[in-house]
Amino acid sequence: MELTEFLKTSYTAYHAVENAVTMLEGHGFLRLSEGENWHLEDGKGYFAVRGGSSLIAFRYQRGGAYRLIASHTDSPCFKLKANPALSDANYTRLNAEPYGGGLWYTFFDRPLRLAGRVVRERDGKLVSETYTSGFQVVLPSLAIHQHRDANEKFAPNLQTELPLLSIGKCDFEGVIADMVSSDLFAMPAEEPFVSGYGGEFLSSPRIDNLVSVYTSLSALIGTEHPSETLVCACFDSEEIGSRTLQGAGGDFLKTALTRIGIAQGRGEEERLSAYARSLLLSLDNAHALHPNHPETCDPTNRPVLGGGIVIKGHAGGAYTSDALTTALLKKILGDAGVKYQTFFNRSDVRSGSTLGAISLGQVSIPSVDAGLAQLAMHSAVETMAYADYEELLRGLCAFYISPLSMDTAV
Ligand SMILES: [Zn+2]
Repeated sequence: MELTEFLKTSYTAYHAVENAVTMLEGHGFLRLSEGENWHLEDGKGYFAVRGGSSLIAFRYQRGGAYRLIASHTDSPCFKLKANPALSDANYTRLNAEPYGGGLWYTFFDRPLRLAGRVVRERDGKLVSETYTSGFQVVLPSLAIHQHRDANEKFAPNLQTELPLLSIGKCDFEGVIADMVSSDLFAMPAEEPFVSGYGGEFLSSPRIDNLVSVYTSLSALIGTEHPSETLVCACFDSEEIGSRTLQGAGGDFLKTALTRIGIAQGRGEEERLSAYARSLLLSLDNAHALHPNHPETCDPTNRPVLGGGIVIKGHAGGAYTSDALTTALLKKILGDAGVKYQTFFNRSDVRSGSTLGAISLGQVSIPSVDAGLAQLAMHSAVETMAYADYEELLRGLCAFYISPLSMDTAV
């Protein structure tokens, strides 16, 4: 599956995980269930799914420490409430609430598709399946003639600005048959497109953070004979704070590493010492210098599109990078000829947080934050440089195979 196909069809975290499973199974990775015992064989690839929307894949080795990459599968959107059909004499709209911190004005007047998972009853069992609507919906903005200051002030009320489902009354039970319950979202349905004189830009919904998910999976699949266990963790719920069963604040990574350690014949002491020798790359996108708003950028750390992998730092610990882990990543990338640059927030701007800092609350592994440079983060359509994807893929492969470790650094 190509990157653009992955971006286009991974409408929600459930779809991203489904596509990831297809990629992994196509390359011989075996599915594990959290509800059954894990029997792992040296040199083989495995994955486990939690909640249908988070996935941990790994190449298992009996010896060595762990080398991990973590990213997130979710993106800002509108989540449908229960009983979403809101009908009046003229129209039916969809009652929804914001999921994450979207750049909401960009969601107006664009094709949106209903997508997520639906739980149905089949043969006395409850079955969860991904769902994508065959139809699109739209969230219409108010005309400029009826909202003269729209270009100066646009502050949508997210309870009253709702997507249109139909003219007249529409029974939502008729839209999705046999549904017992659901996690459904109105997702940007725009297809990825290339722009720029030389075709250098790629614009698409969900560049944050599905490019990281896709690229880390590709690096794991492409690294066939590692000397230590490689882990690719893709978590849901990052946009809403990660504190869910399947989010990075849950114990999915901790329990997966514990079970890998048990399969390796390691007691708790050996597992803890292996964590201290391991390295986690927390992978999430970074704001590139915006040419129309250069004043929003830090004066000396100004990543640009096409400038390579962005290594992120923050005095307040929003990012996990420290001098040692940053040096390790710089060395790994530099040795592989991969370009990198650095990002810090302006000191008068509140920093976003990432998976790395949250994961460390569960498992103590030295960690560094990095990611792809992009524009228009959390817009319905975001923009990156295609060349940076290629640098990222080479960089992640180098990260997985590099013999440099905390042992050699300490
Ligand atoms: Zn992100």
